[in-house]
Amino acid sequence: MVIVAEKSGLIFPMSDKYEEYLIDESKFTGNAESISFPKNEEEIIEILKEMKEKGTPVTIQGGKTGIVGSAVPLGGHIMNLSYMNSVKGYEILDDETGLITVEPGINLIDLKKEILRIFKEKALFWPPEPTETSATVGGICATNAQGISGFVYGNVQKYIKSLRLVSSNGIINIISDNDNPEFFDKVMGKEGITGIISEVTLKLIKKPQEVWGISFFFETEEDAGNFTDAIKNNIPKSDTAFIGAFEYIDRNSINLIEKRKADMAKIKELPDIDSNFAGMCYIEIHGDDEGIEEIAGELMETAVMYNSDPDIAWAVSGETEVEKTRAFRHAAPETANLFIEEKRRDDKRITKLGTDMSIDDESFSQILKEYRSSLESSGLKGCVFGHGLENHLHVNILPENYDEYVKGVELIRKWASDYKSKKGKIICEHGIGKLKKQILSDLLPKDYIDECKALKDEFDKDMILNRGNIL
Ligand SMILES: Cc1cc2nc3c(=O)[nH]c(=O)nc-3n(C[C@H](O)[C@H](O)[C@H](O)COP(=O)(O)OP(=O)(O)OC[C@H]3O[C@@H](n4cnc5c(N)ncnc54)[C@H](O)[C@@H]3O)c2cc1C
Repeated sequence: MVIVAEKSGLIFPMSDKYEEYLIDESKFTGNAESISFPKNEEEIIEILKEMKEKGTPVTIQGGKTGIVGSAVPLGGHIMNLSYMNSVKGYEILDDETGLITVEPGINLIDLKKEILRIFKEKALFWPPEPTETSATVGGICATNAQGISGFVYGNVQKYIKSLRLVSSNGIINIISDNDNPEFFDKVMGKEGITGIISEVTLKLIKKPQEVWGISFFFETEEDAGNFTDAIKNNIPKSDTAFIGAFEYIDRNSINLIEKRKADMAKIKELPDIDSNFAGMCYIEIHGDDEGIEEIAGELMETAVMYNSDPDIAWAVSGETEVEKTRAFRHAAPETANLFIEEKRRDDKRITKLGTDMSIDDESFSQILKEYRSSLESSGLKGCVFGHGLENHLHVNILPENYDEYVKGVELIRKWASDYKSKKGKIICEHGIGKLKKQILSDLLPKDYIDECKALKDEFDKDMILNRGNIL
């Protein structure tokens, strides 16, 4: 182990007590020689200076909920920002929306609490939400995370007023939507390769007046797929409401969730789903009651056409109840990740193996059918869930052992290659990190890799920050 000179007193040598910082939710695992937990921007700069002098690479960490290993160190130093989690200021604007300035390590749970405490009856919210509420604002910006409502509310950048970025040479860049908006592209979604986000001012908007969540159940995947296509091709609209999420969840995901449901506080009281059902579509409607009812009516009529009985659908309203059905959807990736964690106890080479691909102008039903048939012909088990209206499914391979893991890697590469030839996207919201770089390597889009190389030259020639991510 390298002996770390603790010049600043902010840097700690690695020991067993920091083991949890060597892994993220992808279960990809790394190693490091030292770790720090800066409490403000000055400390970030001081630590960076010390690391740069020694030529030690630095891996930046937020909530470590990433699923491509981008916060996992490959040697060097870990800079964990979880202690930088306070609110620095706020403002209520003339149009009754708001701004809140936060440190990067604040997570979504605390951010929501702070927004409620500060803005009270103004009923404001920050729309970006990758469903995983322990994700931090810094991590969300660095990954350009989307989540289930990204397709209606838009990307993260739309909700950023300004941010501060510390470059590897200690220079602070102030990026704002007034002065230099083109700069955002060099930070958002770039997985920390251009700098450390040290402060962000978020734009808050009015919450929808009401939210409903409706879950429709289908006896065949074909029916679920055709229902999704029917809605996609003719999205129900009203003047005062809109579809805020449309998620597909397959039977294997439901089985994984039900196995662990009793231990999951938010969903343990939801009823079990009849074993006849092959899949479900979870749909949120945001707006006022009248508009929501109009859209819900249309959804129910269409569901009947695809053999889903509206009488057994779960229909809930109000934030608290909708939180529960949203948590059910979130439990799909959560339990898939827990499955991998369990398998890793037998073989540490096993990591998460999930897709993050989308393709326009294809039938959702066909995409689902193709994923299912190639899983079956490979003899692999997988669970399938994701964003229906965007043809953006996350297929998670569930390997029983390392041989199946290797087969799973091959299958994901085959899918990526097919998507690439059909001009689909092989990376959407999870990023590339270290895991997808390893798995997809030569298949990754060359123009994006070239763009990231140029950014490295511009911001971090010595490759100090987040070495191993993307490049
Ligand atoms: C169950 C589950 C469900 C998920 N669902 C979704 C989903 O629906 N949509 C989605 O997009 N993602 C999803 N994710 C992935 C994850 O939550 C997001 O990628 C999230 O944005 C990561 O935030 P984090 O704070 O945990 O970042 P980390 O995992 O700690 O880091 C992610 C990347 O951001 C960088 N980073 C972190 N903080 C900073 C900073 N201050 N400055 C510069 N770089 C920084 C890291 O170096 C790393 O490259 C899910 C994860 C889980 C576990």
